[in-house]
Amino acid sequence: MAIPETLTVIGAGPVGSLLALTLARRGFDVEVYERRPDMRRHDISAGRSINLAVSTRGLHALEQVGLQQEVLTQAVPMRGRMMHAVSGELTFQRYGKDDSQFINSMSRGGINKMVMDAAERAHEEGAGRVRIHFHQRLVDYDVTRREARFKDERTGEEHVVEAPVVLGSDGTASALRGSLVKDAGIGSTSDVLSAGYKELTMPPAKGGLGEGGRFALEPHALHIWPRGNFMLIALANQDGSFTCTLFLPFEAPAGQPCFAQLTDAPAAQAFFERHFPDAVPLIPGLAEAFMAAPLGQMTTVKTWPWSHGAAVLLGDAAHGIVPFFGQGMNAGFEDCTVLDGLLARRLTSEGRERLDWAALFREFAETRKPHTDAIAELAVDNFVEMRDRVGDRRFLLQKAVEVELQRRFPGKYVSRYGLVTFSRVPYRVALEAGRIQEGLLAELCGGVERPEDVDYTRAEQLLDERLVPFLKDRGVL
Ligand SMILES: Cc1cc2nc3c(=O)[nH]c(=O)nc-3n(C[C@H](O)[C@H](O)[C@H](O)COP(=O)(O)OP(=O)(O)OC[C@H]3O[C@@H](n4cnc5c(N)ncnc54)[C@H](O)[C@@H]3O)c2cc1C
Repeated sequence: MAIPETLTVIGAGPVGSLLALTLARRGFDVEVYERRPDMRRHDISAGRSINLAVSTRGLHALEQVGLQQEVLTQAVPMRGRMMHAVSGELTFQRYGKDDSQFINSMSRGGINKMVMDAAERAHEEGAGRVRIHFHQRLVDYDVTRREARFKDERTGEEHVVEAPVVLGSDGTASALRGSLVKDAGIGSTSDVLSAGYKELTMPPAKGGLGEGGRFALEPHALHIWPRGNFMLIALANQDGSFTCTLFLPFEAPAGQPCFAQLTDAPAAQAFFERHFPDAVPLIPGLAEAFMAAPLGQMTTVKTWPWSHGAAVLLGDAAHGIVPFFGQGMNAGFEDCTVLDGLLARRLTSEGRERLDWAALFREFAETRKPHTDAIAELAVDNFVEMRDRVGDRRFLLQKAVEVELQRRFPGKYVSRYGLVTFSRVPYRVALEAGRIQEGLLAELCGGVERPEDVDYTRAEQLLDERLVPFLKDRGVL
């Protein structure tokens, strides 16, 4: 295939923007088409202020393009989970082995804008040129003619663009995926979770906690109010506010809470007062804000193959996952790192002129798919863990023992959470190590009430027999 004049990226979300920047840094010109207006000039949050947790994989990808520090200066570090019981009692569970390990609460829009800016500026430093075309919705992609049809969202006019190499990062409802399913026979399923979410803002507090006393809650923790099959969470923003998210089933049998039952402000107020009493005084106008907030849904997308010829899917378009491991965007950013590594190798071995995009995309998809399947599974497991188990006594004991194992045997025990969040160990290895750890913890905690009662000599033996060889074989230790 002749070298294309330009590469085409669909979607300028976090992944599409980073992808465009990454490709530009390899010397390619990139045309990005984005359905929405430019979020740097228009407020398109529609009342949402989604923040998300950025961790090692995402930070590594950002470091590769020189943006890690800029992101970190805008983020609030979170060192663990703070659980809120109905009684108001608080329990803190550290995420990492010590204070050096934390995740970062950051506005999704903030990261997106920063990466878009960097992509558009990249050519000033000798990289390829990135142009982002806003209001341009991909209608469909003709796999035979390799042409993309866009609709201008302002005028309704359609136009066709040659797109011999196309990368789809257009999210869980990807139009590129739709075309590949329809015309190229790729398979795809979208599973909508039976729980949805609504976001609320907890404003800054005077005389509160954290730096400058601006925060109504401890800012350096991810707050969770676990309540069985539903939960509230809150992540701090740098301005002193928190973004709170209620995850709740859409429908439920009579007597069990669900969105369908919260049909008016008094019902919402009563629900919050009953289940989250300590949060209510911190969110003025809660019930009205709740009624006005849009109801979001969460989808697990499974697709295979991810590519057809020189068309490929990345990020949520290829592997949308539920948000409970805080890894959706991190995984999408890691896609960019992996693709970039493979591209760099092929540029060296094949050269630009003879670069086989179809082979590159196939290799990328085959390398990546087992790991995105693994994080999809881990994310659903973590949903159950966060809403159901973080308030459970046996589970809390196992978590405390896990912290002790990490402290006593740092070269032998790294938790599943740590492998996913604070390392770049492939997700599938983290999933499998987690299964071994679950077995070990259940065995060590059997008949024990306190972490100090665990037999740590036996624990080390079990680690040496089961976990250490597994991690060594996979190059983790
Ligand atoms: C409540 C919630 C909490 C989350 N928390 C975390 C977290 O803590 N950590 C984390 O890593 N991830 C988290 N995520 C997941 C994260 O938001 C997504 O994984 C991430 O946004 C995916 O990025 P993307 O660029 O692939 O897709 P998107 O963010 O969906 O971006 C897709 C872009 O494509 C555009 N587009 C769509 N269709 C078209 C079209 N036809 N033509 C042109 N453009 C189009 C869209 O307008 C959008 O700009 C969370 C998600 C939710 C819902």
